[in-house]
Amino acid sequence: MSMEDYDFLFKIVLIGNAGVGKTCLVRRFTQGLFPPGQGATIGVDFMIKTVEINGEKVKLQIWDTAGQERFRSITQSYYRSANALILTYDITCEESFRCLPEWLREIEQYASNKVITVLVGNKIDLAEKREVSKQRAEEFSEAQNMYYLETSAKESDNVEKLFLDLACRLISEA
Ligand code: GDP
Ligand code: MG
Repeated sequence: MSMEDYDFLFKIVLIGNAGVGKTCLVRRFTQGLFPPGQGATIGVDFMIKTVEINGEKVKLQIWDTAGQERFRSITQSYYRSANALILTYDITCEESFRCLPEWLREIEQYASNKVITVLVGNKIDLAEKREVSKQRAEEFSEAQNMYYLETSAKESDNVEKLFLDLACRLISEA
């Protein structure tokens, strides 16, 4: 008989430039809130949320980068044993999209070759400030064989879907 309180445990790691909304996405999903002001930093390495999918208890251990977003300052230990990566950019920030190839090189260097990567374009509530079209992001993600989703941590748009779809894919490939 198992003493575990879950059927599956997955480690999900968020990466992407500073300011794109990684911490807000994690807090929206795990705590159901959008932090006011600029202070979105959380003082822990990871947060846990257990979800139920088709009757299975799936424990998600979600790691946030906590201000270490500069390339090469996040080391192998951070990527090691990640089952999934959420590579996030900000649809209102061209620069955050242009940095994606550098993040992909880090993934290739440090992550498991079995890792599932989801590309997320966040802040879709700021549609009038959009700098990266959905089509461009879809073309990029298709070329890189990544799943793509646009979210708003602020409006809670697609955030639940992001993590639940990812959990489903992780189960199906476990
Ligand atoms: P991180 O550095 O990637 O962790 O980004 P944060 O989560 O700290 O967010 C950076 C800034 O973007 C903060 O001022 C947030 O309030 C803001 N932000 C995050 N997500 C959203 C969003 O979906 N919509 C809007 N309008 N602002 C957001
Ligand atoms: Mg952060």
